[in-house]
Amino acid sequence: MSHVKTVLNFRNRSITALSDPTLRKALRKATDTTNTKRIEAFAVVPNFQIRRDMASSIRMEVIENLAAYVDKFSLNATKAGAIVHRAHDAESARTIIGDILMDRGVQKVVKAKSMITEEIELNIHLERRGIRSFETDLGEYIVQMAGERPSHITAPAIHKSRQQIGRLFSEKLGVDYTDDPEALTSFAQKALRKEFLTAQAGITGANFALAESGSLVLFTNEGNGRMVTTVPPLHIAVMSLEKIIPSLVQLPIFLELLPRSATGQPITSYVSIISGTRKCGEVSGAEELHIVLLDNGRSKIAASDYREILKCIRCGACMNVCPVYGLVGGHCYDSTYAGPMGIVLTILLEGMEHAHTLADASTLCGACVEVCPVQVPLVKLISKLRERKVRENFPTALERSGMLAFGLASETPILYGLGQWSLGTLWPVLERVAGQGPLARIPKPHQVPLRRRLK
Ligand code: SF4
Repeated sequence: MSHVKTVLNFRNRSITALSDPTLRKALRKATDTTNTKRIEAFAVVPNFQIRRDMASSIRMEVIENLAAYVDKFSLNATKAGAIVHRAHDAESARTIIGDILMDRGVQKVVKAKSMITEEIELNIHLERRGIRSFETDLGEYIVQMAGERPSHITAPAIHKSRQQIGRLFSEKLGVDYTDDPEALTSFAQKALRKEFLTAQAGITGANFALAESGSLVLFTNEGNGRMVTTVPPLHIAVMSLEKIIPSLVQLPIFLELLPRSATGQPITSYVSIISGTRKCGEVSGAEELHIVLLDNGRSKIAASDYREILKCIRCGACMNVCPVYGLVGGHCYDSTYAGPMGIVLTILLEGMEHAHTLADASTLCGACVEVCPVQVPLVKLISKLRERKVRENFPTALERSGMLAFGLASETPILYGLGQWSLGTLWPVLERVAGQGPLARIPKPHQVPLRRRLK
């Protein structure tokens, strides 16, 4: 997220995105495929609603007692051999991680996919301190190579077509152009192998953290998570506070819900549970493990009316079904988090003054609520933020007067009819004046109100 607090310009970015047919095709293909797979994956799971209720209440239990769970996790992770650091904000997390690496003379790190390191813009910070960091998740590898940020929390390169990736690899890796996914993956594997073997540290996030044992849980598909956590001698895990769940007993419910919601898989290819450092006689694992627990506003959110957003387990299903996200993609949100959950989290983390334009980036159709495996009430939270946006005076003068006029007209049928007739009559003139602007995309208003036509 940007340190310079300019107002996010979702609207202008969306207009540009809407005129990009390649982007729309790539988004449509990827979200349609994932949505179909998700529906099929859940079709064989009985009592979906009961499972969602259970997952939701486990998450709420932690959020309502967040400080106690953080203490318990920290204590048990330390007992298991990890060194736990608490970071109040992004700046302190970056400094802690940078210092650990600098103290040990680390010049190269490999990273597994982690949205929290995107949130704190870790790569830029490491680069400034002379440390090169290599993303090893294929999607992250592609966006890093393109100099972009991820546009989806589980599919970072969802906005790119195979052909675009083929051209990118050919340009940056000097390989022959191909758009064959297997060949492209193999190019990435070859390029990354030497980085794995020469990196002095591995950095990951965590899907969950178990308070009872102080363990970290990672769900991955490409095997890169295991390499990052076991090949280099030093492992740094960065996680936000709300990733904690009580114990291993609660993990199976999330194992059932998260991969199905994210990619339509019954389970991810790899599930790693990391408890402390490598013990005597163990064949793999880091010799030194640091866990950076990042607050960055979470404690405040946990104490607010928006606390239910912290139930989110980052499956991305709400993005895949969102009609707004599906048309414009994640880069329009200009934030680490996009789609319905991204609207809520970005405004809460970054502040209304910076991110108020995102409050309008939803149709409030409720598709996101239907698919959310932990029942985050996204429509309720977005509506609440919209109310706050109006209360705090963020809509423009034009929006305010438009809403005022609409409110008056809808309470007075004669006024409404007159307004509609005038708009319908003047529309061709307005269109001529506005040219190819936004007006050209709005359907022409009818001169006669619907209720009169229906009569
Ligand atoms: S809000 Fe729900 S659907 Fe959206 S990413 Fe989070 S858990 Fe998944």
